[in-house]
Amino acid sequence: MDRHHILELYHWTSGTCFRHPAKGEVPTAHVKTIRPAAGGIQDIRACTDCVVGMEAHRQAAAEGAGLPYRPGAGAGE
Ligand SMILES: [Zn+2]
Repeated sequence: MDRHHILELYHWTSGTCFRHPAKGEVPTAHVKTIRPAAGGIQDIRACTDCVVGMEAHRQAAAEGAGLPYRPGAGAGE
């Protein structure tokens, strides 16, 4: 699946990327909702580069023949 098709799967609105806040307002997609212990809801939004990167991770995990997906645990394997 190429970048264009991945991006088509998401709904894009202007916002701040959770990994690239220095970019300011950019096209972002909602990727997660966090419910802080203090209450309320915090939406996590990601820019196009981050969404493509996350999907690449998911694809690699799925191709791992049933191995569990461990975010951030793949380094050094
Ligand atoms: Zn980003």
